Parts: sequence; structure tokens; C-alpha cells
Amino acid sequence: MFLSNMLVSETPTIFELSMSAGLSHGLKPAFEYLLNSLSENTASTTVFNATVWKDELYTTLILLLERYYLSTYEGTFADNFYGLKRERFVNNQQQPMRPQDKASTLFLVALLPYFTDKLVKFHAKITQENASFLQQHDEIENRNSALRLDTFLTLAFAKGFPYARALLDSYLLGFQLLFMFNKTRYYSPLLWMQGIIISRLTADDYRNFSTAEELSHKTSTFLSRMSSKFLRFLRTMLIASALGFKLLEWYYSPENISQRESNNGANAGHNAVPTPLPPRPSPRGVDVPPNPMLCPLCHEVRKNPAVASSGFAFCFSCIQQYVSEHNECPVTCIPCNVKQIRRIYQA
Ligand SMILES: [Zn+2]
Repeated sequence: MFLSNMLVSETPTIFELSMSAGLSHGLKPAFEYLLNSLSENTASTTVFNATVWKDELYTTLILLLERYYLSTYEGTFADNFYGLKRERFVNNQQQPMRPQDKASTLFLVALLPYFTDKLVKFHAKITQENASFLQQHDEIENRNSALRLDTFLTLAFAKGFPYARALLDSYLLGFQLLFMFNKTRYYSPLLWMQGIIISRLTADDYRNFSTAEELSHKTSTFLSRMSSKFLRFLRTMLIASALGFKLLEWYYSPENISQRESNNGANAGHNAVPTPLPPRPSPRGVDVPPNPMLCPLCHEVRKNPAVASSGFAFCFSCIQQYVSEHNECPVTCIPCNVKQIRRIYQA
């Protein structure tokens, strides 16, 4: 038992942690995609209102989901998906999270992304609104130092925000490098501030979870049973839509489109639908000339090309005359009347 504990490290690799972080980042685009396609396919005003408040709706759902996961599985939804959990790390010893640790984790995983997102959108708005002013300001900056405070703050925010983000990103990267080289057990500065580390779930953890699940199932009220059913449904939906979204993203990615085009050959072009086979010529019909430029009726190069209902092309006058007499396509003998003949215009 001790041997197996020594062999299987409880510290997850950086790949497991970045996969888990990737899953949580992928949930929001998937949710937005789901909501948008829902509002496009149903003309319902309720769904439309939901798209207006999509950030708030998403944050509420994530708060509910993460609260449930933290209280039941000692980790976030994405942690649990990759078999991970969060623990306190005190004096080089691992301890279960206290309620305040779970609360701060809930804030960091559910609410902080909401506020960061709002800040990014606000910055984009300000930069767009003040684009011309910012440019002017660059030119007159040295001459005119007396600016109003609010203008100054706006400018400082518009210019400083990208630098602050870059700085923060490199700080995060630095932490991840330290983690990768086993210099720290904290995957991110935020976890370091919390004093929380991420570990692998053990066999004991899984046993405890299933015992707790059974117990709660026996003692729970109708309402809590329904809410846990709803959360399980939410979980499945989120995973399915995150995977589906990744698949769509890949399918429509420029690399994959060019790959498919080169597979389909030059003729297929952008069209992903395979070309249907031509209808079979009838034994009692006229022969199709080997040269595709020639009209099967007069065997000369087609003049004013036109198609019968079968899709075969002839000179307009040839097919017009033939169909008015025989009421069928001369090649396939598929029934056709004069009204079904279409001229082909090649612009
Ligand atoms: Zn002809």
C-alpha cells in the first residue's frame, strides 16, 4: 500500500492542469453558441431576452454548478472532470478545504471571469469611442499637460490596460514554469494567495464521494433531489456542448477546410455536398456523344444550351422541338414537357 502511494504521485502534471483550465475556458463559448443557435431557430422572445443577459445567465449557472461541485467533490467542475481536487497546503501538509476556502474558490472560478470579461469589453468600448481622440492626444501630448481628471483616467485606462494584461499573463506563465520544474506546488498566483493546491483524487476520495451520494439520496427532500438532477443535466449539457463546439470549431477551421478541398479535388471547390450521379441513359433513347460539348440530338456544338427535366443539355431549339413531339427526355426517356425546359446562362 505504501509502495503504491509512493509510485503514484498525487501531484498532477502541468498537462492535466492545463487541460482542466482549457475545459473551464471552453464552457462559455460553447454556452454562447448554444444560446445563439437556440435564438436563431426559435422566434421566442424569452430566448432573445436570454441572449441579452447571456453573461449574467452563464455566471449564475456556473455559480450553481461550481457550488455543488465544491461542496460535494472538493474541487471545481473541471477539476472533477479530470480526476482532480483542491486542498489546503499548510506547513507542507495537505488538509481539506475550509468553507472560506471554498467560498474564495467559488469567487475566483465563477465571478472573477465575469468581471474580467466586463473589463475587457469596457476597454474595447472606450478604445473604439476615443480612437480619434487618442490619436490626437499622441500629437499634442507634450504641449498640453493640463488635462481634466476624468479624461486623464480614461486615457490611462485605455493605454495601460493592454500592458497590465501582458504583465499579468507573463506572471502567470512564470508561475507555470516554476510549477513545471517542481519549484512550487501552486499552479497559479491566485492559488498561491489562497494557499490552495490541486491534487489527484485518490481511491479513498472516490469511495467517500459515492458514500456521501448514497447518503444524500436517502435523506434528501424532493426539492434537493430535483436540483441535483438539474445540476447533473447541466453538467452533461455543458460537457456535450463544449465537445460539440470544439468539433464545429475544428470542422470550420481554415486548415480543415483547405484539407477537405484538396481531398475533394479542384472541381468540388467550396461545395462539401458530393455531386449526384447523372441519370442513366435509356436503351431506347438517343446516344450521348463522347464529346460533352456536343448536343445529343444534332451532334453539333450546342447553341443556346438548355436542359430537359433529366438534367441532360441540348441546343434549345433541338430539345424544344423533340419534347413537344415526344413528351420525354431524348436520352433518358424520363417524362418531360416544354415548360420544364430551362435555358442555361453562363455569365
Ligand atoms: Zn442540337
